[in-house]
Parts: sequence; C-alpha cells; structure tokens
Amino acid sequence: MALLRKNIWMLFILLFAGSLLFFVTLSYLRWQAVNEEHRTKQENLIRLVSHASHSLFTNQEIILDILGTELTKDPDFPLEVKKQPLLDHLLTLNPAIVGFGLARPDGKLTFISSNLDLGSLPNLLQQPESRESFLLALKSSRMVLGRTYYMEAAGEWLIPIRKAIRDKQGHTLGVMTAGLRINGASRLFNSALHMGEFNRVTLIRGQDAYPQLHSSEAADMQLDYEKAVGQGVLKRAFYSMELETGQSIEQIKAQEIIAPFRVRLADWTSVGVARFDRKYNLWVVSEIKLKKIINEFFDAFGIYFLVFVLGQIIIYKLFKWIATAEHLRREGLIFQACHDAVTLLPNRTYLSMNKDKWLNSGDGEPFSVLFVDMDHFKSVNDSFGHEFGDEVLRELAKRLQASAPENATIIRQGGDEFLILSHETNDRCVLLLARNIIDRLSKPYQIEGINFTLGASIGIAKYPLHGADLDSLLRASDIAMYEAKKHKNSARIFADEMQTDYLKKLVVEQELRKGLDNDELFMMYQPQINHQGHLYGVEALIRWQNEELGFVPPDKFISIAEASGLMPRLGEFILRRSLNEMKQVQEDMGLEFHVSVNISVRQFMQANFMALLLDAVDESGLSRVFISLEITESLFIEDLDYILPLLNQIHDLGIQISMDDFGTGYSSLSMLRALPVDELKIDKSFVDNILNDDAARKMIQNIIAIGKNYEMAILAEGVETQAQADLLTQFGCDRFQGYLYSRPLTVENLRAYLKI
Ligand code: C2E
Ligand code: CA
Ligand code: CA
Repeated sequence: MALLRKNIWMLFILLFAGSLLFFVTLSYLRWQAVNEEHRTKQENLIRLVSHASHSLFTNQEIILDILGTELTKDPDFPLEVKKQPLLDHLLTLNPAIVGFGLARPDGKLTFISSNLDLGSLPNLLQQPESRESFLLALKSSRMVLGRTYYMEAAGEWLIPIRKAIRDKQGHTLGVMTAGLRINGASRLFNSALHMGEFNRVTLIRGQDAYPQLHSSEAADMQLDYEKAVGQGVLKRAFYSMELETGQSIEQIKAQEIIAPFRVRLADWTSVGVARFDRKYNLWVVSEIKLKKIINEFFDAFGIYFLVFVLGQIIIYKLFKWIATAEHLRREGLIFQACHDAVTLLPNRTYLSMNKDKWLNSGDGEPFSVLFVDMDHFKSVNDSFGHEFGDEVLRELAKRLQASAPENATIIRQGGDEFLILSHETNDRCVLLLARNIIDRLSKPYQIEGINFTLGASIGIAKYPLHGADLDSLLRASDIAMYEAKKHKNSARIFADEMQTDYLKKLVVEQELRKGLDNDELFMMYQPQINHQGHLYGVEALIRWQNEELGFVPPDKFISIAEASGLMPRLGEFILRRSLNEMKQVQEDMGLEFHVSVNISVRQFMQANFMALLLDAVDESGLSRVFISLEITESLFIEDLDYILPLLNQIHDLGIQISMDDFGTGYSSLSMLRALPVDELKIDKSFVDNILNDDAARKMIQNIIAIGKNYEMAILAEGVETQAQADLLTQFGCDRFQGYLYSRPLTVENLRAYLKI
C-alpha cells in the first residue's frame, strides 16, 4: 500500500519532469523559430535592399559619367562658372537628385544646375564635409559616395556622389558631382526600406563607418549622420559575423555574404544581418532590437507557460486526490484490522501492534491491565439474537468508555471480554476504578424496549509486578478474573495464591488424567425418598481418591475436567458406570428404582452426546423410564436453539430431565415452561435456611407452586433434619434427598441399605 502511495508520487514527479522537459523544449524551439523567422526576414530584406541600392548607385554612376563626359566637352569648361540647362533638364527627370555640379580638379564648381545658388557655392576640396570624398573621387575610377551631410546651398540632407571624368589619356578633367536626396517625397529610396517600427536599415560607409542612409521610424538627422559607428561596436559586429558564418570578415566582404550578427550596444542589443557592397564600399545593414524578439517569444511563451502551470496544477490536484483516497482507504483498512466492527473499540490486533508502547515506554512505566468479563452475556445473545447482542455490546463499550480514565486504552478482547490498560497502579485506586466500572456495567439496560441487568467481573494484573510481557499479564489478569467470578460483580487484583490455585488446578488436571487410566474414580449413590417414605431412586455422584491429592471432592475436579477437555471421557465413564452398576443392583435385588445422573454442560454440548447416551442406556439394559438426567441452569447460557431440540429428543425417548440446583442460577421461571423438565430439584442452600429464613421459605414455596403448575415433580436435596422434611412435606414437596435419609453410598453399601 505504502508502495503504491510512493509510486503515485514517483509517477507524479516523472510526469512533472516529463512535461517540464516538454515545456522547456517547446519554449526553446519557439525561441529558435522566432529568431529564425526574424533572421530570414532580415536576410530577404538585405538581399532586396542591397540589390536595390547597388543598382540605384550604378544608375547614378552612369548618369554622372555620361553627364560629366558631355559637359567637359563644353567650350566654357573649365573656366566659366554657370548654370547649365542640360543639368536642369536631368534634374526634372531625376527628382531624387538635389542638384548637379561639375567641379574642376581643384574643387571649384563650374557648371551647376540652376536650383543651386551661384553665390554660395563651396569649394569641394576646401569644404571639410566634401574634401575627403572629393580627394577619393580624384583617385578612384569608380563613383565615390561622400559623407551624408546637410548642404546649406540646397537646404537639404543629401548623399554626395562624385565621379572623376577623365580624358582618353587618363587625365582628370573634372569631377561630376550630385546630391542624392534622402528626405521628403522624392527621396532617393522611394519607400521606407525597413519592415516596420521595430526594424532599422542602414547603409554604412566601409572606409570610416559613417552612416550613409538610415531607414527607420525615428530619424534624427543630426544624430544619425554626424557620428560614425564606434570602433568597438564594429569589431564586435565583425566578430559576431565571423562566428555566425564561419568565414573571415575579408571573405564576407569579398563574397558579399549575407552575414547575421548580434551586438550589445550601449542600451540595447542589436540582432541583424549585413551585406557588404564591394563596388560602393558600403555595408547594408538591417537590425532588430533583441527585446523585440524576446517580446515576441514571450507572447507565445506566456501561453505555453500558462498551459504548463495550469496543467501541472490539474495533474497535481488529481494525484493529490488519488493519494488522499488511497491514504483514506489504507487508514480504513488498518482501522478495520485493528478495531472491532461492532463496538469500534481497538481489538487484540491493535493490542499486539501497540504493546511496545505500553511495555517499553518510559523504561517500563508501570500500568494495570483490567480484564473485564460479563456474566451470562451469552444467554442474552441466545435469548434475543445476535443483533440484539451487538446492540448490548455497543452499550457496554459506551459504558466502559464513560467509566474508564481519559488516558486508558479500552480493547475488546473478544466475546464479552474487554481489556482496560490504565496508568493507575495503586491498589486502592485500581480497585476503585474497577468498582466504578462494575457499578456502571451492572446498572439496568434498556435496549429495544427490553429491560435486563448484567453482571461483570474484573481481574487486574499489574506491570511489571505480575508479568513482564503481554501474555503473562493477560494470563495473570485472567486468573484474577476467574477468582473474581467466584463472587458476584467483583474485582480482584492478581495475587500469587491465585497463581498457586492455578498451578494446583494444573496438578489436579494431570492427576485426573492419570486417575482415569488407573481406575481411581468410582461412583457413589445417594438414595432419594418419596413422600410415602419409600425409595424413589438414587443420584449417582462421582468420587475420586488420589494417591497424591487424597480425596478430591467432585465440585473441585469437575470444573477442571470441563476446562481441560477431560469431560467427555469422564462423562462417559460416569454414565456407563452408573447405569451398569445400578442395573446390576436392581437385577440382583429384584428391585426397580430411578437412577439420576448428573450431566455437566460440556458433556451435554458434546456433538455425540445423544448417541453416547443411547448406547450407554442400551448397553446397561436399564429401562429408559427409570433414567433421569440432572442438568443445571448454567446449561442455558449456551445456545438454546441447539439445547432445546436435544432436550426434547431425550425427553421423547422417555428419559426424564431433572433441573438441578434450581433457583440459584440464571434461568427465569418463565423459561421453565418451554423446557421438557420432569423434576425440579430445590437447591440445598434454600433447604438449609428453610427454618430460619423467610426469603428461603418463600423461594421454596414459589418453586413448588410453579413446578406444580407445570406438572413437574419437586425434589428437595440436602435435607438433614426431620423439621426440614416436615416443612417441605407441608409445602407439597414430592421427593427428598439428604443425610437425613442417607449419605451417598458405595455400591456395596447401597446393596446393604436396600436390604433393610
Ligand atoms: P449436586 O448435584 O447438587 O449433588 C448434591 C451434592 O450435595 C452432593 O455432593 C451430595 O453429597 C451433597 N449432599 C446430599 N445430601 C446432603 C446433605 O444432607 N447435606 C450436605 N451437606 N450435602 C448433601 P457431592 O457429591 O460432593 O457433589 C457436589 C457436586 O458435584 C454435585 O452437586 C454435582 O454438581 C457435582 N457432581 C457430583 N457428581 C457428579 C457427576 O457424577 N457428574 C457431574 N457432572 N457432576 C457431579
Ligand atoms: Ca445433582
Ligand atoms: Ca444440587
């Protein structure tokens, strides 16, 4: 069970780890995809832009070349400074061009388009903004781009382009110059190059890293064009490109490779793609802020994360629910195993499992075991059914809980036996506690409208005084309980004498076993007299003379025989011996009289009792009508559903049933009606007191009246005096037995007795 519970959480952790891995992988792939997407977009953009700018510049170069060649042929060149109508015409054809000018190699502009102010024409070689590119143009065979700058004469930001015009011998005739408009409706690049607000496209000069053209939403000309890209940034960008492409920066430039890069700038990280235009010595660069990519990633990630977290919560709840259910089921099972289903009190299993708590806690801290046993509970069960019995048990449990101390443990030991483990060890206090419990348990019960009372006996054993382990403690308390049972509703603390009694019983048991083998047992017969003074019958009484123990009275060893399983053997001996001997006597003397045999409860409850009885009767040859069986009320503690049919069967055979010790036990007078009883034996204790005790006399009168009412014969036993006999006769007693007539006699003495 614990394994399953552990496994559930193992499974959960596995599932969690699995989904975490899935989540991380998915997120990573998403991150890759977002990056990839932007890179591809930028690569495509750069391919387009670099191509467009290249062809644009090539076009301009061709125009400059044609124009320059044309104008240097003008006879006024290079001496006259003038506005040129041809240039004006070309200006209208190329709205992206701010103005044209043809400069002499010394930097002085000669021919200009008429939109430029003749008065404020700069010398291109002397003007700082143009000097460098002008010198470059002089040296170069290609068109050269100047730094983007604000040209006062045109009142515009522009990219200067210059192309040296040479004659056939290669002498430089002049430099054809134009300004490319980068702002306004008719700017060089007819639409914004960048993809959106998040993106910036820049043309950067190869030689000095000055931006040539910016395409972005937020353009600040001053800031954008007056500062070159820092050397550090450049270095890092190149390094990044080399890393991404696996090529050196020279190769990247030479092969015009589209190269991705990533650079940390002062306050943002730029993720971009660049391509070098070799011809015009230009980097074409597209950039996106890393933050933009991250944000885009987080849009998707947020949803993944939410799904992941929600999923985990749901799975966790599910597992928690399963684990809780499993836990409850387990607890339920443990509870079931350790508790009695009827009273819900802990049971023996619980005790065995928890005994260490009591025995070893606090180095053997003393405690007491109270063994509570109900008297005659079984008859309640038998009379009213098991469900009723369960109800009574629940009530018992309730009363025990109410009377036991808070920290005591109450255990249903089984049947009507309970154990109370209490920390109380002082003799007086434990006995007081036991007294309280007995008082409460013996208060009247009213269950399902039925009123009755029950008795309780308690045996007490103390730890460690009376036993170091549970078994010896239970045995000691059991012994004490049996001692208590001898007195009604009482409690006893275990004492060594009880143990001695117990051991004595063991000796008796052993000796009895041997005695049966050695023929130490024999029967005596006590005559029973009818009211006319004639012999009615005899009661067979067992006797035992043992070498070790001497004479042992039957009421000492019969109970031991019952408890030790010797009763079947002993009972059979009694039955056969009595019937056989009496048949012999009757035959020898030509007499007929009744033979009454005592049948103990265990003997009667034996499965084969009926068969044995019939066999013994047949064997003896005694007539059934002369045989009676003495049973006691304690028989009715047993299962009535079994006893009653058996008694009826015996009675139907013609064998008589005599109710021994009547009035001392449990059976109620009303119960008598249902029983096939032929004879009631008034107990000796009543007869003893008939002369001096009103209650005893009343009891005898009652018994006689009821017996007569049910047409039963009444026999008084233990009649010792004539006065007793007279009074009993007066009350209507039919038969008498006692020392007044005869003591129990051996067979020989009986023969002698009968001869008289
Ligand atoms: P019980 O069946 O009530 O037997 C009557 C007892 O009273 C006998 O004692 C008998 O000797 C004694 N008794 C008879 N008349 C007088 C009298 O006038 N005065 C006095 N003081 N006693 C008298 P016993 O033989 O010692 O038997 C005691 C009990 O042992 C019996 O009580 C019976 O319950 C049991 N018992 C004896 N023999 C047998 C037997 O063979 N089988 C079974 N199952 N139980 C037996
Ligand atoms: Ca008897
Ligand atoms: Ca008796």
